[in-house]
Amino acid sequence: MTTSRDFTGKVVLITGSSSGIGAQTAVEFARLGAHVVVTGRRKDRVCAVAKQCAEASPTGVKALEVVADVTNDDDCRRLVADTIKTFKKLDILVNNAAWNMAHSILDGDILDKYELIMNTNLRSVIRLTHLCVEHLAKTKGNIVNISSASAFKPSEPLYSMSKVALDMFTKCVALELSPKGIRANVVNPGVVNTEGLRLGLHVNKEKSDQLLEGLAEMTPLGRVAEPMEVSKAVLYLTSDDASFVTGSNFVADGGIQYV
Ligand code: NDP
Repeated sequence: MTTSRDFTGKVVLITGSSSGIGAQTAVEFARLGAHVVVTGRRKDRVCAVAKQCAEASPTGVKALEVVADVTNDDDCRRLVADTIKTFKKLDILVNNAAWNMAHSILDGDILDKYELIMNTNLRSVIRLTHLCVEHLAKTKGNIVNISSASAFKPSEPLYSMSKVALDMFTKCVALELSPKGIRANVVNPGVVNTEGLRLGLHVNKEKSDQLLEGLAEMTPLGRVAEPMEVSKAVLYLTSDDASFVTGSNFVADGGIQYV
């Protein structure tokens, strides 16, 4: 499954690009000619994805590797500073990193989970957007935030809340940044077959296969998505084909109804 867009020379920073949707998106941007910044906390995974980017790139361009925790403000500053130092500009910011494990309002550590989820899924996006605006204004660049189509589920109250807030944050920021020529949009994926999804299910491989089958049955298209199917939405929104699209939600969920 490939796309034909051209991002030659564009500089793209994708958080959470050490696995799953972010990793696939990084490789696709590299394949389409972009200079990619691969980042996450796991150094080995960051290196592995950066290598895949170099292999995919038509000119063998090496991705910039930055090991960083998006919940740490200093790491966020270093991430953006290293990007600008290396490539001298930024065209596209994809805020993709997120944390999600099943949780309940009955959990004794619910407020610790609140801090972790909001810091990872929302505060980091606000921080990085703030740091990147001046650079995106220079390139008339754009932002895509990866949210979720699962608006509400009993096992994920805080995650769902963080994603709904992310949707609204993006809409407001899109309005504010429009005069600077910066677009901002959201992709809302349905169920995507990633390491993160399986980890979040808290069960072994056999059981997670069964759960994924159940989720596939709930999905009108009859299957869960592959990461590439979300990457393609990101590639569209960040391309010139979406030059008049801002403040919008691109739902890529196979038509799933959660309630
Ligand atoms: P993965 O768990 O596979 O990837 C998550 C990425 O986020 C990893 O690269 C991880 O890197 C990074 N990350 C997490 N916490 C931090 C942190 N504190 N600092 C830096 N990086 C961090 O998840 P997916 O690919 O499934 O999810 C990607 C996005 O898609 C998320 O926003 C998720 O909410 C959204 N989504 C996914 C769905 C699905 O079904 N998979 C459905 C709907 C939305 P590392 O561990 O190396 O730090």
